[in-house]
Amino acid sequence: MRCPWCGAAEDRVIDSRSADGGSAIRRRRECLTCERRFTTYERLEQSGLVVVKRDGHKEPFDRAKVVSGVAKAIKNRPVTPEQVDALATKVEEKLRRKGPMITSQEVGLETLGLLRSLDDVAYLRFASVYKDFQEVTDFERELGLLLQKREPERPPSAGRHART
Ligand SMILES: [Zn+2]
Repeated sequence: MRCPWCGAAEDRVIDSRSADGGSAIRRRRECLTCERRFTTYERLEQSGLVVVKRDGHKEPFDRAKVVSGVAKAIKNRPVTPEQVDALATKVEEKLRRKGPMITSQEVGLETLGLLRSLDDVAYLRFASVYKDFQEVTDFERELGLLLQKREPERPPSAGRHART
């Protein structure tokens, strides 16, 4: 790797570690000529993950669309941009395991699934604007799962709180 400081071609790697949740390798390098340091990242080459829309139209997977969709859903919610970024990385990883061809519905469902564990309100917002459910029952099923999570069954012997 050419040194960004002096332009020399030789360097040595002084540290190598996993980055971006394991999807990249960060290497700290030291130039053999000027001894200044710089960092490189090694990532998988974009391997052409293709999203098939409901009308059959195909387009390259765009991680930024996942981020912007989730960003709208988390407005005024206690979710950080870092969490959104991590979510988008996980969505992409899951989709890559199914790739190279995935449906837009799969993108939405994977996003929903991960959003549910992050923030309930953001999850419902995303679900309500998400247009690619093939059937309404998909949404109802998702909603049902959420409601189950939020309202756990009372234990049979629960007597501490009076029932109304
Ligand atoms: Zn140098």
